[in-house]
Amino acid sequence: MTGLLVANGEGEDTIVADTYLAACDVPGIQRLLPPEWRSLKTFENIYKLEAVPVATVQLRFDGWVTEMNDPDARKQVEHAAGIDNLLYSADADFSCFTDLALSSPKDYYRPGQGSLMQVVLTPGDPFVPMSNEDIAQHALQQIHDLFPSSRELTLTWFNVVKLAQSLYRENPGMDVYRPAQKTPVANFFLAGSYTQQDYIDSMEGATISGKQAAQAILEPTGYKVQGVGLFKY
Ligand SMILES: Cc1cc2nc3c(=O)[nH]c(=O)nc-3n(C[C@H](O)[C@H](O)[C@H](O)COP(=O)(O)OP(=O)(O)OC[C@H]3O[C@@H](n4cnc5c(N)ncnc54)[C@H](O)[C@@H]3O)c2cc1C
Repeated sequence: MTGLLVANGEGEDTIVADTYLAACDVPGIQRLLPPEWRSLKTFENIYKLEAVPVATVQLRFDGWVTEMNDPDARKQVEHAAGIDNLLYSADADFSCFTDLALSSPKDYYRPGQGSLMQVVLTPGDPFVPMSNEDIAQHALQQIHDLFPSSRELTLTWFNVVKLAQSLYRENPGMDVYRPAQKTPVANFFLAGSYTQQDYIDSMEGATISGKQAAQAILEPTGYKVQGVGLFKY
């Protein structure tokens, strides 16, 4: 690889370097690769990977959704009450969620208001055709199922953001198509959660892929990137 053409306002710049590292998501790397590289299996396999849609829903309440024990604390809005960390569930369409007013109060606590629940619906395929109102009601129902005492509260505001192409879709049989960080092009490397690493598409997976890419780039120098656990190179 001899250069990288990047857009610069109305024009274009060519970036020349010794080594190139593409740390994209799946839709991004599919756009970035030159079509002629698809004759190489590593790169062609990348086009077999799909991205999954996700829908992020925020719901504001007039009380505290995760305060399950104390009805008075749940219904007041003088101070925050409930669980102040990230939550996981296998019993809802959102596996990962939090009350942002509690877990990130500097940005999301509002005096006189209650919980700001943020839930991420993934895989989001069934939600793409739904209206934002219906998606919010679906999320609300599942919040009520997880926290029955929250049925006493009123939803005061909601917002829905749909991303049509987001995380790598972890379908059975697809793992073999994920590329290694080292590619058949000697000075071109890949990083990103979708590349080969043992975590799901996640912050941890992205970090491990970056370390593995660094190790692949530095291999000729003899330098060893320190890695433990699922770090593999
Ligand atoms: C709503 C949501 C909630 C999530 N919650 C969690 C969570 O709670 N915990 C967790 O661990 N993970 C979570 N994830 C997953 C996590 O965000 C991703 O796994 C992680 O960000 C992947 O990192 P990455 O560096 O591989 O890719 P990304 O963070 O997607 O970065 C890729 C970057 O490349 C850029 N790019 C793409 N194409 C090009 C191009 N051609 N030229 C230049 N730039 C390009 C993109 O704009 C993007 O900035 C969540 C994801 C979403 C969408």
